[in-house]
Amino acid sequence: MDDRMTGRVLIAGGGIAGLAMRRALRRRGLPSLTLERRGEPADAGLAINLPGNAVQALGQLGLGDALRRVGSPVHRREYRTESGRLLFAVDETAFWGEEVRPHCLRRADLLRLLTLDLEPGDIRQGCEVAAVRQGPHGVTAECLDGSAEAGRLLVGADGVHSRVRRSVFGDRAPDAAMLAPASWRFMAPNPGLDAWTLWAGSDGLFLLIPVDRGEVYGWVSVGKAAGQGRDLAASRAAFASFPRLVRDILDSVLAQPGALHHSPLEEVRIPSWTRDRVVLVGDAAHATAPVWAQGAALALEDALVLSALLAERTDWGTVGTDYDALRRPRVTHVQAMTDRLSRTAGMPGWARNLLLPVIGPRSYRATYSPLRKPVSA
Ligand SMILES: Cc1cc2nc3c(=O)[nH]c(=O)nc-3n(C[C@H](O)[C@H](O)[C@H](O)COP(=O)(O)OP(=O)(O)OC[C@H]3O[C@@H](n4cnc5c(N)ncnc54)[C@H](O)[C@@H]3O)c2cc1C
Repeated sequence: MDDRMTGRVLIAGGGIAGLAMRRALRRRGLPSLTLERRGEPADAGLAINLPGNAVQALGQLGLGDALRRVGSPVHRREYRTESGRLLFAVDETAFWGEEVRPHCLRRADLLRLLTLDLEPGDIRQGCEVAAVRQGPHGVTAECLDGSAEAGRLLVGADGVHSRVRRSVFGDRAPDAAMLAPASWRFMAPNPGLDAWTLWAGSDGLFLLIPVDRGEVYGWVSVGKAAGQGRDLAASRAAFASFPRLVRDILDSVLAQPGALHHSPLEEVRIPSWTRDRVVLVGDAAHATAPVWAQGAALALEDALVLSALLAERTDWGTVGTDYDALRRPRVTHVQAMTDRLSRTAGMPGWARNLLLPVIGPRSYRATYSPLRKPVSA
């Protein structure tokens, strides 16, 4: 094994976390090799909502200007009842500031931005990591095609069902937990919406976010009473009293084969994100229900913090433990706020509608205020 290979960082997974890691390392002058099993992630045709701390992190990765050229800023959030009554609204530009206000864009655009100006030579596509072996000075990733790659450290960025997590922690790491099987995402023509808008009924939630004047990104979920199967058409009745605009969009995506992406919500909560020379980032470490849309933000921040530590240290043996200690409080905060809002969402409709105008704006501030502080990188 030559020095070039033993000195590099291996990254398993080329999604948001893996590509951010690759970019952050490149900006620090550290060599890496990314191993990605697919040509393109399964959900690249959908969009993603980025709160201000994700926008901030993209700026720290040198992508602030490029981001402004794709998708749309999200100026305002509106939480509404199933009849369309406004419960509360948040001025997101006022909260985050012009520079880092939230943004919604296509996932494919986000992945493209993360690879902007990088040479394609340090990524291997079609390479599925099957196992990880650690030695005293380095790590080897064994791929399904029989090939093996060596590095000085391996970053597990292989998502919620991480093979790296299983390979390294074995039975000590519980697999992802299912939170809600009845959730779907889609893209649809924009009916003229200019705000992030959520309609909440007793059996269903319907969220639309403008991506641009042409399209909106949608997410829909139904409660247990409305059925938990994969077929949203069977739960159509849960939206019978929603506004016309919602029902029309729902009918149009139901009528279009392949328009709906069944998207179960799963989470990972584990006590450690590192073992010797393997470190987990993004969903592999801490997948969280997208209640506050923190998945990409946390993945980008993980990459910034870990790459800074790797650049500072000569001994990488303890970097994983320090990364875990630095990232744990922020991730724990997001998990706690996710649990809190999920409990409110689970209340009977009349109680939720009574409480939300008061506790909604407070929850927004309590969740995002600590996240406005940029991670040090
Ligand atoms: C319904 C839903 C809505 C969401 N909405 C938002 C939102 O609006 N905003 C937000 O910030 N987050 C959102 N999220 C969460 C967000 O999608 C994730 O947090 C984010 O994609 C995590 O990125 P990742 O790179 O860690 O994992 P992934 O995106 O899962 O990427 C993992 C990559 O690793 C590859 N891979 C897997 N196994 C292997 C292997 N063995 N070898 C090699 N490669 C492998 C995969 O092909 C993939 O490319 C949402 C999630 C869901 C389910």
